[in-house]
Formats: sequence, structure tokens, C-alpha cells
Amino acid sequence: RIGPVIDELGALFTEAGHELALVGGPVRDAMLGRRSNDLDFTTSARPEQMDKLLRAWGDAWWDMGRDFGTIGCRKGDWVVEVTTYRSEAYDPDSRKPEVQYGDSLAGDLGRRDFTVNAMAVRLPGRELEDPYGGLIDLAHRVIRTPGTPEQSFSDDPLRMMRAARFAAQLGFSVDPSVVRAMTEMADRIQIISAERVRDELVKLICAPHPRLGLSLLVETGLADRVLPELPALKLERDEHHRHKDVYEHTLTVLEQAIDLEPRLAERGDIAPGPDFVSRFAALMHDVGKPRTRRFVDDGTVTFHHHDVVGAKLTRKRMKALKFSNDEIDAVSDLVELHLRFHGYGSGEWTDSAVRRYVRDAGDQLERLHVLTRADCTTRNRKKAERLRRTYDDLEARIDRLSAEEELASIRPDLDGNQIMEILGI
Ligand code: ATP
Ligand code: MG
Repeated sequence: RIGPVIDELGALFTEAGHELALVGGPVRDAMLGRRSNDLDFTTSARPEQMDKLLRAWGDAWWDMGRDFGTIGCRKGDWVVEVTTYRSEAYDPDSRKPEVQYGDSLAGDLGRRDFTVNAMAVRLPGRELEDPYGGLIDLAHRVIRTPGTPEQSFSDDPLRMMRAARFAAQLGFSVDPSVVRAMTEMADRIQIISAERVRDELVKLICAPHPRLGLSLLVETGLADRVLPELPALKLERDEHHRHKDVYEHTLTVLEQAIDLEPRLAERGDIAPGPDFVSRFAALMHDVGKPRTRRFVDDGTVTFHHHDVVGAKLTRKRMKALKFSNDEIDAVSDLVELHLRFHGYGSGEWTDSAVRRYVRDAGDQLERLHVLTRADCTTRNRKKAERLRRTYDDLEARIDRLSAEEELASIRPDLDGNQIMEILGI
């Protein structure tokens, strides 16, 4: 229950002579009937003033970046972030917005990214402030900017990525005026640091509806700047339409990987919930195809070593987006291994080939199972079913082998007769 904690904090700030309002995400989510333990507030108090109040009130306290005027604290299960009213001034030549404190809630809401995020609940009276019609847009399930999208995106081009991210998280559509501005201004994303772009991309991919966000990135041309390997897959439809559309296939594989995600927590020791590594691997698994496409005389198409090339392209892209080495290794290993099982016919792999598969997959084995199974999709239903059964067989064999190995490792060095002899039984 959100009531008691917001009232308590509201009273605390009001008694000290400051304004306080719940703002942004938690207001939006509460209106949608979704709960979250993250509470964002905005206040007239300056950081040094709220610093004292929050230190006395919270169970734990941290400085979120004093330069941005945000202070965080924890109270029970609640994670609270309080930010001083802002009215940002942007220097068009610099990548970083310059923070300027504002003096009104209205001004603070006016510089927010989208109408559905520009609602606040004033405390302690709990009055809703909704100057840009956020509630109506929530009802219509649409992302719009408070002012003109052109102005908003030129103030902070990252908001274009955020539009796609919220579409994916909320399952909302994006207003045509916003899509138009994103298309016209896509180039501006280049002034944003790779880390900030990456963080939005990760949230988009881990959202419930990544297809919505990804399609928007591709449609507006933003993907050409931040993840060009994805739109490049669109060119993969050959002129006879004989080969499947790799772009559509990729989105389908991503969705199938998402459906298989619960396995990761059940069988592997991967935290429950969205798994970025397997989702991103699904998205990148065929990116080697455009580079390796060859037309064969009989009219068919081959992709020689697209797994190896795809892994290389994946590494390069993830490096540019400043992912950690562990993440880069995990995703690119999956891309490189996703085809390996095609060499596994009925019983053609020796036990040592199966063991090599397990060893090469290493920590990524459960994710490899998910990716490979998700990839068992083709227009030819019978073929897909056959692939799936082949993989069932391989996975069962892996389970059997590892059970045997485990048994062998706990079997004592002495046999029963020797033990009886030593014990004189
Ligand atoms: P989550 O915490 O799950 O990422 P959220 O809605 O809380 O979702 P944040 O990125 O945490 O989103 O941002 C908090 C609020 O700050 C948003 O609701 C929005 O009003 C505002 N905001 C954040 N970044 C920007 C930005 N680049 N431009 C304008 N407003 C922003
Ligand atoms: Mg937040």
C-alpha cells in the first residue's frame, strides 16, 4: 500500500516548509493499476535541505548524484528517490544537459519526456497535477510529448529512444507526430553517449513487448544508428521470396525465446524474469547472414559460416555500445554456437562430441538450449517439428551424460568388497 508512505514523507517535507509531490513512473503505474516499489518524488527543497530530512527518515541513504539534485533512500521495502524541481537548460554543443533548479512543480512537469510521465500527486493533500493530459493519453494508450516533439527531442535526443522503450514496456502506440519527429531527427541520437543509449536499449529488449519498440526503431531509422545489424536483416528476402524473411524470423525467434525464459530459472541458476543475454542473442543470432549470403546455381541461397561472422559482428556492436566483457562473451558465444546442433543427426554424435558441445557452451548451456529451441521455426511446420525433436533428443542425451558423470564423481574409489575387508565385516 502506497498511501501511508507517501503521506508520511509528504508531512515530513511540508512541516519543514517544502513542497513535495509523487511524480513520473509511480503515478503512471498506479493509474494503470501496476505496483512498483520505486517511488520518485519531486520537491522544492534543495539537495542539502532534503539530505537532512531523508537521513533522519530512511533506513538507508545514498547520494544518487548530487550534481543532478537527486537523493535516494530506502524505507522498508520502498526505494525512494527525491529530486529537486528542475528546469533544464541545454547547451546544444554539449552532450550533457546542464542542471538548473526550478521553483515550481508546473515547470518541472513541463520538461519531462512524455505526457504519461508528466503527472504528479501533490502531498500531503494528494491532488493530481496533470497539465498535459497524461491521464487521457494513458486511457488511449499513446505516447505523446508535453510540448512539440521536435523541441523536446532537440533538447534531449535520448527521448527518442525512450519513446520506443516506453512503447515496449507499456504496449502503447506512439503518436504519429512523435514518430515523424523521430524519423526526421534520428541522426541527433549520435550526440548521446553510448552508455545512455545502451541502457534504454536494454530496457526496451527486456520489456514485455520488445517487438513494438524494435519495429519503431527500425521504422524511424533510429536502428540504423544504434543497431544497424537489425534493419540490415530486412534486405535478406531474396528476389524469388524463396528464402524466409530473416528480419521477421528474428523477431519471431526473440518472442519464442521469451516464451522459453521460465526454463532458465527452473533449470539453470539464472534469476527469474527477463533475461537480457538470451533475448539479445536471439536478436543477433542471424546478423551474419547478410554478409555471408551466396546464391547457388540451383537458385537456393547459402550462408557460409554466418554463425562465426555473426558472433564477430555481435562483439563489435556490443563493444561500441559499451557492454561489459562478460555480457559480450555470453551473447557472442551463443550466436556462434546456435547452429552447431544442426550437425547432430540421429545418433551421429559420439559421446565425446556431446561432451564437447556442453563444454563449449559452458555457463551458457541453458541459454543455448533456449536459443536453439526458439530458432526451431520455419514456414515448413514438419521441418520445424523434426528439428525440435532432434533437439529434444540431444538435450535428453546431455542430461543423461551429466547424470552419469555426477554419479561417477560421487562413487567411492573402493568397491563394496574392499570396504567390507577393511571394516572386517
Ligand atoms: P524505470 O524506472 O522503470 O526506468 P521510469 O518511468 O521511472 O521507469 P526513469 O527513466 O526512471 O523512468 O525516469 C523517471 C522520470 O523522469 C520519468 O517518468 C520522466 O518523467 C523523467 N525523465 C527521465 N529521463 C528523462 C529525459 N531524458 N527527459 C525528460 N524526462 C525524463
Ligand atoms: Mg525510475
